[in-house]
Amino acid sequence: MFLQKKIGILGGGQLGAMLIRHAVDFGLKINILDNDKAAPCANYSSGFVLGDTLNYDDVMKFGENLDIITIEKEAVNTQALHDLQTKGVKVYPAPETVEIIQDKLTQKRFLESHNIPVVPAIAIENRLELRQYAEKLPACLKLRRDGYDGKGVMILKSADDIANAFDKPSILEDLVDIKHEISVIVTRNEEGEIKCYDPILMEFDKVKLLLDYQISPCDIGENIAQEAITIAQQIAKALQLKGILAVEMFVTKSGKVLVNELAPRPHNSGHHTIEGCNTSQYEQLLRVITGMPLGDTASTAHTIMINIIEPPAERKGSTEAALKAIAQIQGVHIHWYGKSEGRAGRKMGHINITAKSHDEAVTLANKTRNTFNSLYEKN
Ligand code: ADP
Repeated sequence: MFLQKKIGILGGGQLGAMLIRHAVDFGLKINILDNDKAAPCANYSSGFVLGDTLNYDDVMKFGENLDIITIEKEAVNTQALHDLQTKGVKVYPAPETVEIIQDKLTQKRFLESHNIPVVPAIAIENRLELRQYAEKLPACLKLRRDGYDGKGVMILKSADDIANAFDKPSILEDLVDIKHEISVIVTRNEEGEIKCYDPILMEFDKVKLLLDYQISPCDIGENIAQEAITIAQQIAKALQLKGILAVEMFVTKSGKVLVNELAPRPHNSGHHTIEGCNTSQYEQLLRVITGMPLGDTASTAHTIMINIIEPPAERKGSTEAALKAIAQIQGVHIHWYGKSEGRAGRKMGHINITAKSHDEAVTLANKTRNTFNSLYEKN
């Protein structure tokens, strides 16, 4: 029976935990590989294996007895995924897809070769080479590998900033005059069927380069929304995607849509799909990997997602008081990741707020955020 397959996920973070939550609906048992024994999935998986998702032997040992393997982060050993595939394990997404995306330079060159609009960039080996391109500044420097949550990204305003720039293989991108940051989540199954979710609008904290909140459906204009969806579909086809892909895009002030980056796994920008869409992104991925038809992706509510970030210890208020207070607000759905507290800047959970209209969602989200922060953080 397809629902009795042995399934494994590389990575045991909150995205994996939300996959497990949805796997329960299908009676699926999920095994996890993660090197943190306190990872969010540790409490919920059927088999938790301690090991490094980037280590060949760890991934091989974990995957050898599984039928199906998928990922909840890109930092995985793709050689092991190739070899597991050769041994008959079904791997989602294909290891080749992960390899293209793991490196921001190969990702960009792949998209360019398929005529997908991207932000122009040049490859930089190290800080010394960067000095030759001082006349290109201001620009955006990004590590080719292993950046996340803005940690591998820096804006270089002038040559004075080069002394503190990354000294590793990077890309130097033109600075984009950003009007909106949006994301489209697209899924494609092995039959080649493709479904997209409505674009979501992401609002970023301009200082920390960290997500503030996101809203879906969003008011970016019918033409731009359609263009973003078409681009996501083209990328899914170009990659021959088997699985789920988040396509983060910029809408420029002159109205162009440019792809910023791809993530071939469940994504933050799809958190709202749990309460805000007919089929969540997590269920959708489970449908792909178990060979079920794709679910309907239509939005069923106006949803705003707010991340909960751990404040510095000296400003920490009461988690319990904050959660109890927002639990009284209509439309609030709490997603708490069960991480150990204490590291400032850590994503501890998120809140989805659902409402019947955009305006109502905004009013409730502001009330929720103010109520939560007034108790969770001391001024
Ligand atoms: P990460 O993978 O860490 O999320 P991103 O590539 O999404 O990194 O960049 C983080 C943020 O930096 C973006 O959301 C955007 O606000 C800003 N940014 C990224 N690239 C550019 C660019 N070329 N021009 C201007 N701002 C950018």
